[in-house]
Amino acid sequence: MLNENVILAQNAMIKKTTAAILYETNSDLVIENVDVAAPGPKEVFVQMGAAGVCHSDVHVISGQAQQLMPCVLGHEGAGLVTSIGDDVSRVSVGDHVILSWLPYCENCYQCIRGKTHLCNAFQTPVGNGTLLDGSCRFSNKHGPIRQLGSLGCWSENVVVSEECCVPINRSIPFEIAALLGCAVTTGVGAVLNRAKVQKGETVVVIGAGGVGLSVVMAAKLQGASQIICIDRNTSMRNLAIELGATDFLVASQDADISKKLIELTDVGADHVFEAVGKRELQSAAINYCCSGGTVTFVGLDSEDATINLQTTAITRAEKTISGSIYGSACTHRDFASYGEKFLKGELPIDLMVNRRYQLNEINIAINDMLEGKPGRGVIVFDH
Ligand SMILES: [Zn+2]
Ligand SMILES: [Zn+2]
Repeated sequence: MLNENVILAQNAMIKKTTAAILYETNSDLVIENVDVAAPGPKEVFVQMGAAGVCHSDVHVISGQAQQLMPCVLGHEGAGLVTSIGDDVSRVSVGDHVILSWLPYCENCYQCIRGKTHLCNAFQTPVGNGTLLDGSCRFSNKHGPIRQLGSLGCWSENVVVSEECCVPINRSIPFEIAALLGCAVTTGVGAVLNRAKVQKGETVVVIGAGGVGLSVVMAAKLQGASQIICIDRNTSMRNLAIELGATDFLVASQDADISKKLIELTDVGADHVFEAVGKRELQSAAINYCCSGGTVTFVGLDSEDATINLQTTAITRAEKTISGSIYGSACTHRDFASYGEKFLKGELPIDLMVNRRYQLNEINIAINDMLEGKPGRGVIVFDH
């Protein structure tokens, strides 16, 4: 009798949610009604408001990024906190939160020196697609279902660890907040936190996807004198220009990009951002920057990617090659700060959101991105 009561109590705490699940690489996502368990200690139940469609999700689908399956994808999202477990101190019911795939511990060497984006305390559960305690909250009759980046934003409701929740100003629309959760912070933070672009400097951005366009926006905000955007799709031109690019080069048409860049900048760019994550483009980026210039790798190629460096040229030209993960951001500080910049009109993120989908249109949303449709596709949840 006692056991039965325990089982009933547990069942009572389980809710149903519709989620987009990847069962195997190179297949469509399956929209399914699954169980989501109530939040345990230090966990938060979030009713999703919006979730972006990012190239990193596609890397999981293609197998370029390893992920245990089945898994609810989506790692760029925002929503409303509707219930919390015991001992939650970072958020309250009713808060609007951005979900972060880079939770940090606050206690390690990197966290203490302010580089929370380099904290690896939770690398294993985030990589495995579980909550930070190593267990799953989604399940169906076949067993547990993982959640990408400890999040799984492509679901009407999620349970996440409180370390992954960052409260934000409630006047920021969910579709804008969602993008702050990955693309915008990655691009804007690379410019503000890592490269520290200064007024009057010249900037080259390789790739006009969500991250590349966010680099463009931030470079404009910093007062860069020239912002040259390069992409293989002509279709990206108008939006790149609208967001602040002064020039747009089509990679396939402008065969000798290096020559064209010298024509435009005279000596090469002060800053080059590689926002695609392809080794050949990372290699080219080093040639695009001027002596004393800085290259910032923002995109991710596969784990085994390498490039050849002409090291003498690097010494002589004093070039700096750096990387930036998640915009080198302290999420609790920068999500709020970039959100305020949006509200003040300094970061026109709304111009990037030009395609909206229901969750059951997720495979269409992914195809649209792969076909090179400009701007960011966002899944909008109606509750
Ligand atoms: Zn992403
Ligand atoms: Zn840490």
